[in-house]
Amino acid sequence: VPSCLEQVKLPYPVVLAGDSGVGKSNLLSRFTKNEFHLSSRSTIGVEFACKSIEFDSRIIKAQIWDTAGQERFGAITTAYYRGAVGALLVYDITRLSSFEHVTRWLTEIRNHTQPNAIIMLVGNKSDMHELRAVSVHEARAFAEDNDMSFVETSAMDSSNVDAAFQVVLKGIYQEMA
Ligand code: GDP
Ligand code: MG
Repeated sequence: VPSCLEQVKLPYPVVLAGDSGVGKSNLLSRFTKNEFHLSSRSTIGVEFACKSIEFDSRIIKAQIWDTAGQERFGAITTAYYRGAVGALLVYDITRLSSFEHVTRWLTEIRNHTQPNAIIMLVGNKSDMHELRAVSVHEARAFAEDNDMSFVETSAMDSSNVDAAFQVVLKGIYQEMA
């Protein structure tokens, strides 16, 4: 890394939200450590990870928070979202209920994060397209109606994982500028 690159630390965290089992923890471990785990491990409380990306001749350092198994509605404390300026709202493309719950998650995110927060709708498990239960068309339309970006990802085969986080991190950085 050339030493002339300026480091910018995002002052507030990015949060992950969405139903249990949709792949939030694996998206985070794929993005920050390039790791994928076949079995779900739930931990008590909130976990976070840090990651730097290069953008606009700068190193942008971000902290990303994971719900760590507290996905029941109302179980996540206000403190989890407080100050967050970005969120990845994740559903599982093979599980319709996880998409139907996106509306509730979005309300919760909007109620607790900054008004200008960058929110990205993420349809995870795109590698399991033969079991698809949510169409790209429907998800994209919902995202557009609700001022979110949208992408389908696979934490398993890595597709679009970097892209999803980068849209949010760059969006936050540009709002700060
Ligand atoms: P969380 O509860 O939202 O944090 O979900 P996890 O990250 O713990 O993942 C739940 C389960 O889905 C685990 O068995 C993962 O291995 C699996 N999983 C996560 N992401 C993917 C993916 O992109 N593709 C597939 N096929 N499985 C995934
Ligand atoms: Mg998890």
